[in-house]
Amino acid sequence: LVVIDHVDKHFGELHVLKDIDTTVARGEVVVVIGPSGSGKSTLCRAINRLETIDSGTITIDGTPLPSEGRELATLRADVGMVFQAFNLFAHKTVLENVTLAPMRVRKLSRKEAEKRGMQLLERVGVADQASKLPAQLSGGQQQRVAIARSLAMNPKVILLDEPTSALDPEMINEVLDVMVGLAKDGMTMVVVTHEMGFARKAADRVIFMADGRIEEEATPEQFFSNPRSPRAKDFLSKIL
Ligand code: ATP
Ligand code: MG
Repeated sequence: LVVIDHVDKHFGELHVLKDIDTTVARGEVVVVIGPSGSGKSTLCRAINRLETIDSGTITIDGTPLPSEGRELATLRADVGMVFQAFNLFAHKTVLENVTLAPMRVRKLSRKEAEKRGMQLLERVGVADQASKLPAQLSGGQQQRVAIARSLAMNPKVILLDEPTSALDPEMINEVLDVMVGLAKDGMTMVVVTHEMGFARKAADRVIFMADGRIEEEATPEQFFSNPRSPRAKDFLSKIL
């Protein structure tokens, strides 16, 4: 579904993505881990064209990512993104947060968008908060709204970049549970996370990045029990 073919990216002198070459199949859940600065967020942002790439191609469901214009807006709508800092529209209600883009981009009627929006809020367990503003919700609730908002566009794949890192510990599980549910439902997901419990439970594959490169790709069982590269061993010894 997502084909990343020999992608390179620099920020000035800094070579942040080095010959990244991998694919994400439909329904697959890929967890990306690695030290700070290894390029995980840049890779996610490149998949969504929030960052340009210098060379290589990224294809979503057979269509190469265009760099601008109408096609970009459409393709971006196929790629949901959830960030560490929830990034909700602060002056819109929870329900409006999940209905705006489907109405504007997918051209749903308000009624359709609200019906589906409420179903999604139900699914992530915050339907009772629909008429509140984001600031009136806990962090865990806000992040679940952000997940519902990205699902509202019916994306083909959803990218989650450290979705639980900004949360208080007691709220992490409520968000992880929603993510595990999505994974079980067959959603195609790329998740940057340090939550190894999630990786073990839900990931089909772990990608370990270091210094802009994919150092290692393996099933969670293989990766956690028997990491091959010294850098992966070193990283795991620090976080586990
Ligand atoms: P973290 O775990 O801390 O989130 P990461 O693996 O997501 O790290 P990236 O955010 O992708 O890492 O950053 C990769 C490298 O690119 C880092 O060295 C970072 O400083 C640099 N970088 C990221 N964004 C920019 C930018 N807009 N301009 C210049 N350099 C950047
Ligand atoms: Mg990051």
